[in-house]
Amino acid sequence: MLASTDGWTTCAQGHRHWGRAGAAGLLLHRDGADGPEVLLQHRAAWSHHGGTWGTPGGALHHGETAADGALREVREELGLLPDDVVLGARSVDDHGGWAYTTVLARPARRIEAADLRLDGESDGVAWVPLSGLGEVDLHPGLAASFGRLRPLLEDARR
Ligand SMILES: [Zn+2]
Repeated sequence: MLASTDGWTTCAQGHRHWGRAGAAGLLLHRDGADGPEVLLQHRAAWSHHGGTWGTPGGALHHGETAADGALREVREELGLLPDDVVLGARSVDDHGGWAYTTVLARPARRIEAADLRLDGESDGVAWVPLSGLGEVDLHPGLAASFGRLRPLLEDARR
């Protein structure tokens, strides 16, 4: 029988993280009127780091790849199907004993925030221009990894 990956874990940097097998999220990006935009989710108040904006995602299941986990989470959280997106580069934020993999993706069709079906883990979703990221309260994990993600986003536009 497979061990459950549910539960809190503490990484080598001393943070508490949900999901003992690590976690993954989908960073969906598109070209907006004022440059690149990313789809961010406003985390429900009750959730870990509630009230901040982050990439949709969550804990990986046992034996699941980061891409599969990220696609499963966006299906659960936003109603997006695997065919709705085209996967791109991955970026791993390894904390030691726990890692978060961000999977970049582009929309395969027009995706408007208002059309997405949110589950209870978020109370909003929006396309946020990169130039406006400083004005939103970013999830600390996303804020910490954004320096590494930005060049990948730039590369993906070429
Ligand atoms: Zn950590």
